Amino acid sequence: MTLSEAELLAKVPTGLYIDGQWVEGRGENAIAVEDPATGKVLLEIANANAQDALAALAAADAAQAKWARTAPRERAEILRRTFDLVRERAEEFAMLISLEMGKPIAEARGEVTYGNEFLRWFSEEAVRITGRYGSSPEGTGRMLVAKRPVGPAFAITPWNFPLAMATRKIGPALAAGCTIVVKPAELTPLTTLLLVKTFEEAGVPAGVINVITTSTSAATSAPIISDRRLRKITFTGSTAVGRKLLEQSAERVLRTSMELGGNAPFLVFADADLDAAVNGAMLAKMRNIGQACTAANRFIVHESVAEEFAHRFAARLGQLQLGRGIDADTTCGPVIDQRARANMERLVEATVREGGQVITGGQSVAGDGYFFTPTVLDNVQPGSTILKEEIFGPVAPIVRFKTEDEAVALANDTEYGLISYAFTQDLKRGLRLVESLDTGMTGLNTGLVSNAAAPFGGVKESGTGREGGVEGIQEYLETKYVMTPDPFL
Ligand code: NAD
Repeated sequence: MTLSEAELLAKVPTGLYIDGQWVEGRGENAIAVEDPATGKVLLEIANANAQDALAALAAADAAQAKWARTAPRERAEILRRTFDLVRERAEEFAMLISLEMGKPIAEARGEVTYGNEFLRWFSEEAVRITGRYGSSPEGTGRMLVAKRPVGPAFAITPWNFPLAMATRKIGPALAAGCTIVVKPAELTPLTTLLLVKTFEEAGVPAGVINVITTSTSAATSAPIISDRRLRKITFTGSTAVGRKLLEQSAERVLRTSMELGGNAPFLVFADADLDAAVNGAMLAKMRNIGQACTAANRFIVHESVAEEFAHRFAARLGQLQLGRGIDADTTCGPVIDQRARANMERLVEATVREGGQVITGGQSVAGDGYFFTPTVLDNVQPGSTILKEEIFGPVAPIVRFKTEDEAVALANDTEYGLISYAFTQDLKRGLRLVESLDTGMTGLNTGLVSNAAAPFGGVKESGTGREGGVEGIQEYLETKYVMTPDPFL
């Protein structure tokens, strides 16, 4: 039976989770979490200060040695039990994601399936941490290589995928034998709180996962990062904040994983299947109302198909139904806050001033919530402001090109390198693009690549490290090498 909003919100813990207890925060004023579709407060939750943060780290540190020695199978089963519980309660998680973040309920269900898969995947990886044993080349010794957990980790997550960004870090950390302190984004912390309550029900020992919610991210995080007990920081968010965290991490030479911003090019060649390209564009641009690090940010389209692509894409965007995510007929939600909406207005205005044309949309919607009409801009000039920034909203600029070399040069002309998309039916061209596009991931004839079984991550200023796949758990493991003399000598 589906719960009412009030019944669902009553299930969400509102405290900090430290050493297996839900406790009050010592920060000033509770955090009011808003519904971006109405601007109304959903729930008030605890606000952590630096003392709370250090208490969470102390709990993670105290639990570390025992958790690292806990049998991999047992660690795996806690992850698997949590996966099963989240799957049973998928509709509750989907509703909560939609309420606090604004995405349409169908997409929120998709996030639950995707995000929860990291728990199942890493429950399976926990029992496959291997090492090696062999003779030294001289034959006089034996060399062992073992993997060990890095130690207590600090995870900072963004607001846009409230479940998946948490499971992508908690899953591999726990599987590897690391304890963790999680700091969700202040705008959408409720899903993480419900997730951690679910872990508690699944039997996670006290101190293994700790959660602090705070309105003072920098001041509350800094003491954890500078504390010797911390061994690892894993961050997903903007490049600007990632850079600051890297600077702070340098002081103590922390292991770092950084999943940062993107500026994804989406290339459409003259030989592309245009139906597939438009479907791909809808996914790559409109998933999460354009608020994904993987969002197509620059449509680079061959001049011979640009007009048709622009009009077909605009027609599809025009059919989207704006509304509150949890309403069944909504296919496009609001952007996250007024600041994000003002940014869409600024980017559209700048593009028009710089020679681009609005094909559809381009405006804020009056009334409650932070709605912006899905927008296509054509004939955007190379060098325009909008091509240099992460848009993070439902606005699609199209730049036209003539040659493949020109398209690749435009695509790579950015400091970011998270993902690229390319649509062509020519296999050789497709492979040339895969090898020339300077990004950690490429969607070749598809607008969606995210998968728990794949290594997600970027190059250049989009970050370091990978989440998911067989690579994901390595971010939480250290290599230990042992030499011992030949036992027969
Ligand atoms: P953000 O960088 O503003 O915030 C991310 C997190 O960092 C939040 O929890 C925030 O409270 C915290 N934070 C901010 N300043 C901090 C500081 N000084 N010290 C410690 N913590 C701090 O990003 P956002 O607006 O939440 O998310 C959007 C950004 O995230 C976009 O740039 C997007 O591309 C990126 N993102 C990247 C990926 C990826 O996998 N590469 C995935 C999702 C989002």
